[in-house]
Amino acid sequence: MKKIMLVDPPGFMGNAVGRILGSFGSNKADQAWPPYDLQVFAGYSVINGLDYTILDANNLKLSDSQIEAEIRKYDPDWVIYMTCFPNFVIDAKVALTAKKVNRSIKTACISLSMLSVLDPAEKLGKLTDLDYIIWGEPELPLMQLINGVKPSEVKGLYFRGENGSIEFTGIAPKVANLDALGVPQHSKLNTSLYKCPLSIKKPMTIVNCSRGCINACVHCQAGNFQSPVRYRSIDNVLEELHQIKALGIKEIKFYDCSLPTDREFTKNLCNAMIENSFNFSWNCNARAEMLDDDIIITMKKAGCHTIAIGCESANADLLKNMGKNETPEDIERGVKLVKKHGLRVLMYLTFGLEGETKETMRETYDFAIRMYPDFVTFGIVVPAPGTAFYKKLSKNGQLINKNLEWLDPNALPSFKYPELDPKELHAFTRSAYRRYYFNPGYILRKITRLRSANELLGNIRNASTMMMRYFFERSK
Ligand code: SF4
Repeated sequence: MKKIMLVDPPGFMGNAVGRILGSFGSNKADQAWPPYDLQVFAGYSVINGLDYTILDANNLKLSDSQIEAEIRKYDPDWVIYMTCFPNFVIDAKVALTAKKVNRSIKTACISLSMLSVLDPAEKLGKLTDLDYIIWGEPELPLMQLINGVKPSEVKGLYFRGENGSIEFTGIAPKVANLDALGVPQHSKLNTSLYKCPLSIKKPMTIVNCSRGCINACVHCQAGNFQSPVRYRSIDNVLEELHQIKALGIKEIKFYDCSLPTDREFTKNLCNAMIENSFNFSWNCNARAEMLDDDIIITMKKAGCHTIAIGCESANADLLKNMGKNETPEDIERGVKLVKKHGLRVLMYLTFGLEGETKETMRETYDFAIRMYPDFVTFGIVVPAPGTAFYKKLSKNGQLINKNLEWLDPNALPSFKYPELDPKELHAFTRSAYRRYYFNPGYILRKITRLRSANELLGNIRNASTMMMRYFFERSK
């Protein structure tokens, strides 16, 4: 039986890095996600009769020598690691370590944000310990390779041809039926490692029911590279929920772009969760336009306590520029609906969209104050290569830093606008966090709404992480 070792590489500059499901960037808050993309491939490995193990070097904060020891111990045929475009070169150390252990180990990297990696052929040419870059959704091409299909016959690869030249076989086909990948596996991970600022119970984990988004915002990986939207079947998700229930997990973050985009799926899932008496508490992401009384009531009955809404901006022109296909009024209505039903709400806000000025940033911050959500994030938009946003900035000569290691939502922006200095944008974002979270009114509200000692501890850890990031950390 072939042995597959799945690795989430170490973080970057002391912070764990989010790589799952096309995400990237260092963690803003006290969070630790399980390596879900690897868990999906583990599920596919199970139905293909492979032996696998998963090494979460990211959250375990393992050194290269510790990773080397783990590879020696497991003695795999393949080492497959997850990456994301800003960390692509750094993450390739995993391939180097694998080849150091045994040159016959095959190495490959996967990412749902892979299409943002610049100059992949040139990079593979230099990274001589990396055998394959899987270009697009990884599961189908990777399994073909493992099963011995010749690389030249596998769609979705960069690889070395016989004469050493780098060959490309095109973008990998999307998985039409997500159930064909089996069921994501949680059992080989240390479940106590994972945490989410929104959790009210622990241990927690991530579950993802779909891929892609119905929208295509100009900067978004999911919108640009992961569509069309595909959902797993209810039975397939239930199998995963039974598995995690048996592992003692009590809290779930549904990581879909917008769980209730498919209303029927979401209602059926909620009803099935109630019928099975899972008693999970959970949160999910949603587009504001997908929310109404009926769906929120159903979700709440099934254990949903928090809905995170991609709000982005309070300015109608900026929303239009980014292709959000929602208005500030839609977003306000969605936020108010969630609050009306007694659920907590997280607003994802984004600064630096095309047309941003100091005034529009203030408008968005004031909107957050007026909506007064339980949680808010103030991200700086990242121009991921390959997206329409990146192409436009590039064409307009507004990209000032093409060093991809800087493309982090927490770092100085890598672009400039005539009306907005990048340093001002960055400083405003950091001060928005400080002003929102570290004011007496907000702190008092958090204290009066505490539901458990676990939530209190989580809040303290989260506050200290944010203080380190937004008061003391120097700008990169
Ligand atoms: S709605 Fe959200 S997930 Fe969908 S494309 Fe826009 S930013 Fe991406």
